[in-house]
Amino acid sequence: MNVITRGSGDPTVAIVGGIHGDEPAGKQVVDRIADMDLEFAGTVKLVIANEPALDAGVRYTDCDLNRAFPGDPDSDLYEERLAVEVYDELEDAQAVLGLHTSHSLPPPFTIFTSLNPVTRRSITGMPVDYAVDSSGLRQTTLDSVHPGAISLEAGVQGSEEAVSFGLLAGLAFLRAHHVLADADPLYTSVRRIKALHEIKKGTGVPRLYYRNFQRIPAGELYAEDDEVSHRAPDNNKVLVLASEHGYEDIFGVLGEPDGIITPEEH
Ligand SMILES: [Zn+2]
Repeated sequence: MNVITRGSGDPTVAIVGGIHGDEPAGKQVVDRIADMDLEFAGTVKLVIANEPALDAGVRYTDCDLNRAFPGDPDSDLYEERLAVEVYDELEDAQAVLGLHTSHSLPPPFTIFTSLNPVTRRSITGMPVDYAVDSSGLRQTTLDSVHPGAISLEAGVQGSEEAVSFGLLAGLAFLRAHHVLADADPLYTSVRRIKALHEIKKGTGVPRLYYRNFQRIPAGELYAEDDEVSHRAPDNNKVLVLASEHGYEDIFGVLGEPDGIITPEEH
């Protein structure tokens, strides 16, 4: 883990890249912010989490860091020990932004576990239209152990667009928490999507017929391979993190629109 601190005093927030070693955009965003000549009104910790995995260009070395929180200092697995170190580093940050990329197509979106004044400010303060409530999924992610943490899916893994969007969103996150005072924060309403469950793959060639957040009509086939086929149970389902080849055992996550997240009163 590498931590670069910029600015001083309160509030303290953090931006974390390199949680997954095969997603170089997060590290590039963190490096670029560290190199920029910015006037800070608080403190930002810029964290590169999994350096060995980044160096090797792999998602993880022993186990998925974002499935390893809160971690175990005595584990034989590198990422389970690293999760403890990362958490300790982030504990004093009121807001945390974890940077990710995926194999699914734009638009970018945020993922949160708990909606509170801090995460609401992050979610509505970045230029994204969708926020995915993952509280119904597994509870081993950074967002699920740190109450002020959310994730940003910045774009397609390895793309320059993911780096430029991640930078834009990262700076907006800093303004939203008044750590960067170069411009006023801009808060907008965001569509909330409730994540329901993972969509299991079978064997053979995976085929997907809908994009992220596109409404699937009741009864329509949205994903299949040679072994499984998935149809929408009603008119209120969408795909999240949908990709044919991004994950070995799932097509992504099934979700449903769940209202609007509005900015808090200022
Ligand atoms: Zn990731």
